[in-house]
Amino acid sequence: MVLDELWFDPTRCFIGNEWLTPNSAQYLDLVNPSTGQVVCQIARGGDADVCAAVSRADASLSAGWGRLSATERGRVLYRIGQLVQQRCEQLARLESIDVGKPLTQARADAAALARYLEFYAGAADKIHGATIPYLAGYTAYTLREPHGVTAHIIPWNYPMQIIGRSVGAALAMGNAAVLKPAEEACLTALAFADIAREAGLPAGALNVVPGLGTEAGAALAGHPLVRHLSFTGSVEVGRIVQATAANNVVPVTLELGGKSPQLVFNDADIDAALPFLVNAGIQNAGQTCSASSRILVQKSMHDEVVSRMAARYAELRVGPALQDLDLGPLISARQRDIVNGFLAQGHDLERAAEGKIASESSDNGYFVVPVLFAGVNPDHILAQQEIFGPVQTVIAFEDEDEALAIANGTAFGLVASIWSREGARQMRLAKKLRAGQVFINNYGAGGGVELPFGGTGLSGHGREKGFEALYGFSSLKTVAARHD
Ligand code: NAD
Repeated sequence: MVLDELWFDPTRCFIGNEWLTPNSAQYLDLVNPSTGQVVCQIARGGDADVCAAVSRADASLSAGWGRLSATERGRVLYRIGQLVQQRCEQLARLESIDVGKPLTQARADAAALARYLEFYAGAADKIHGATIPYLAGYTAYTLREPHGVTAHIIPWNYPMQIIGRSVGAALAMGNAAVLKPAEEACLTALAFADIAREAGLPAGALNVVPGLGTEAGAALAGHPLVRHLSFTGSVEVGRIVQATAANNVVPVTLELGGKSPQLVFNDADIDAALPFLVNAGIQNAGQTCSASSRILVQKSMHDEVVSRMAARYAELRVGPALQDLDLGPLISARQRDIVNGFLAQGHDLERAAEGKIASESSDNGYFVVPVLFAGVNPDHILAQQEIFGPVQTVIAFEDEDEALAIANGTAFGLVASIWSREGARQMRLAKKLRAGQVFINNYGAGGGVELPFGGTGLSGHGREKGFEALYGFSSLKTVAARHD
């Protein structure tokens, strides 16, 4: 079956601005998680396709793409961003069908992709080296240069946003990118490549090889001409990719998972906090690396916060992505089984509330209801491990010290937020929380593309988004000229 929404052939790899049949002549089924039905097939790319893509990327660095000035690169990115903007609805529908994301969330992702391109288009010619005061008779300066070919291995949960922040920044710095999207959801990666071609991106600057992680992904991570690896995904695969990067001695950015807390103190504005407390946990059915899966509440407020969150949970509706309810399905039967496995481990906990599956949902869709657990011990497995599903735990604390110890008491460190009116506490905790991003009296700050993002501990290292990404996607060369 081929989707009406497709205007390109999803069974091909995108290499050097051409659509090529995978060398294996093998294909993988792509499933709509709302229905469990196969919607189309995609290429099962492998070693030979990755080699072709890397070689075209490398060639583009000394030809068309590599010859553009920073300003010209910015103009190309801007044109791509405008086309993405114009085709937001088309992209959103594809993402919705492929990932199972409610349409409103998919539209927000398409808009974010356009915004990343706009941001990095503007930034392309505003990042530069510096002159260094040095010995008499010398002029010393630094040049900020692209790495060369960059590899981008991404997951299925936010393809468009991750392409924007990772490929957008790499291209702005003048790298040539090879993208390996997830086998579960890769339609918008292919659609994006076609839009980039249409907008005038020179051949080879962006190449897309779909396929399995152990085949196309491993081949890309290990290719000797790849000079930088950007990986977003699980801790387990992140370790493999980092080991490969170590072997080839290339820099790597790892954006991995999280167990991000929101700390709610008894002086917080609960009315303002409430929508963030729930939405940050259930957005994209909880399949968000920066999902807030732990809600830490000061003891005197615990019951009130739980009952108000529970009221919201009771209204949450889960259903097919195109029906645009609060939550869509999970990405796959496997992911649903993982989440159900965690829920079973919560049999000893107080199930404070849960949502509902809409009656019109297909029995074959991968739906789970969102569940809120209250009064959870911070050491419980549900409060320690990333679930990657719509499950939140509420944990009570006595005072600031205990809140901090619980917040920092997992192996992760991606995002945290503080809900309190007390300025000194906000400043103290912002410094002490182990996280790559800290939000005060909000969560996520609307996802601003300007805000550097990344983790510590098992959440990974390196930063994407904002200007910081441009440093990561470039290397610094020092030049010292002796003239006297
Ligand atoms: P995953 O690690 O299984 O897959 C991610 C990508 O890696 C896919 O493209 C996959 O094909 C590829 N891959 C798999 N094995 C590989 C190998 N041996 N070599 C090279 N590539 C390989 O992750 P997933 O299940 O797709 O995504 C879920 C995880 O991603 C969660 O843990 C989540 O927290 C994390 N995530 C993190 C962020 C972030 O920005 N920090 C964003 C999204 C997802």
